[in-house]
Amino acid sequence: MLDKRSFYINGQWQAPATANDFDVINPSNEEPCAVISLGGQADTDAAVAAANAAFDAWRETPKEERLALIEKLAEIYMARAEEMGEAISLEMGAPIAMSKAAQAGAGAGHIKSFIRAFKAFEFDRELGSHAPGDRILMEPVGVCGLITPWNWPMNQVTLKVIPALATGCTMVLKPSEIAPLSSHLFAEMMDEAGFPAGVFNLVNGDGAGVGTQLSGHPDVDMISFTGSTRAGIAISKNAADTIKRVSLELGGKGANLVFADADEKAVTRGARHCFNNSGQSCNAPTRMLVERPIYDQAVEQAAAAAEQTAVDIASKEGRHIGPVVSEVQFDKIQALIEKGTEEGARLVAGGPGRPEGVNRGYFVRPTVFADVNNDMTIAREEIFGPVLSIIPFEDEAEAVSIANDTPYGLTNYVQTQDMERAHRVARRLRSGMVEMNGQSRGAGAPFGGYKQSGNGREGGIWGLEDFLEVKSVSGWAVE
Ligand code: NAD
Repeated sequence: MLDKRSFYINGQWQAPATANDFDVINPSNEEPCAVISLGGQADTDAAVAAANAAFDAWRETPKEERLALIEKLAEIYMARAEEMGEAISLEMGAPIAMSKAAQAGAGAGHIKSFIRAFKAFEFDRELGSHAPGDRILMEPVGVCGLITPWNWPMNQVTLKVIPALATGCTMVLKPSEIAPLSSHLFAEMMDEAGFPAGVFNLVNGDGAGVGTQLSGHPDVDMISFTGSTRAGIAISKNAADTIKRVSLELGGKGANLVFADADEKAVTRGARHCFNNSGQSCNAPTRMLVERPIYDQAVEQAAAAAEQTAVDIASKEGRHIGPVVSEVQFDKIQALIEKGTEEGARLVAGGPGRPEGVNRGYFVRPTVFADVNNDMTIAREEIFGPVLSIIPFEDEAEAVSIANDTPYGLTNYVQTQDMERAHRVARRLRSGMVEMNGQSRGAGAPFGGYKQSGNGREGGIWGLEDFLEVKSVSGWAVE
């Protein structure tokens, strides 16, 4: 079993102040694969103190120096990308091929994309020609607590650590205690790249412990959080007493609006997208809204896509989906599948229990419900499993109204060949992102939500701005 008990504080690997072992479970076989420590107040305080002590020097480093270190990190990350894919696959169950390509690959993509945005970013600007004496200085917000989830571990870590580094912030990363192995490896990479001691610190722990200690800490200036809306609310409340900046990336219940003139692959593509990563993506298109003339055909196509989606252990090569991350998630998904049937949705593929012949591991059957209405629990709650709900609609106005009738507002999807309609609908959807006709968003596009999906924007220049204060100075030049 891997021993990952130490924390990375002030440029050193250190034992926790008090031993508090916690097993990391391999979701494919339900057995422990590694042991970490859950930190306590003394560990959090030591990491925050190190980040504070490093801040003044780090914020003063020339942009070129920070850029060179991030470029060095990018090289190391690329050289160890296979290892990263293996760590993520083991800790959260992503199939190995997908883990290397998409999970580890997402981290590599964000590092490169931030390097591009950072190079072009102007930290020092004029207000405008009407006020030549005024200067706008963009400055690092300070010490940041970065709290990340288990579903896309390196995607989230790089979306926070890289812009924090680039802008001159120092930080304490607390990854998910369920999937901490990738962050441990990432800390090794940071060490190898040679960032000054204290700029980046890693402390493992749970939400009630290190998570809460960070969000309430008087010496932490900002919390950047990705995870559940429940935890986002708790963090915001706890951070209020010290008026921290809180940037939140929370859940979603994305709608995929499939109009009768959608391209012929739209339904299968949408169903597969929902099942990808075993449904554990905040931007998954989990509500498929289908225009009535193609509804019956769409239900058949989605059911076929579910039946064709193989489920297998994470270490096996291939294009299957893996288990879900934990017993808690497995039980939650099972209860929601039961609820779907109880509330009158029509089960057309999958259903409760593990796939046939499987009796170990948190494996869920790719499941499709038809005849769902938007008031049912499965249409309202984020399931975070491979479960698709299909809802019929009569016209564009009804489709938009169903899509927007949710507390969330992260990503919605539109499938139509009528581009005038596509543009109209894209504007009317109340979400931070809209993806149309299977076209994924470009590198450096801002990721974030409306409503209870959060308030931050990660990636590209918006991701850098999240970590910056804006200072307005007059009298900079003689008028
Ligand atoms: P979570 O929100 O409980 O955990 C995410 C991170 O926050 C972890 O690092 C956790 O230790 C920490 N945390 C938890 N409570 C905290 C608190 N009170 N203060 C500070 N930090 C805290 O999410 P989870 O338990 O891993 O998953 C539960 C649900 O969250 C999922 O079913 C899913 O709906 C949602 N989720 C959403 C995303 C997303 O990207 N939007 C990611 C993961 C989970």
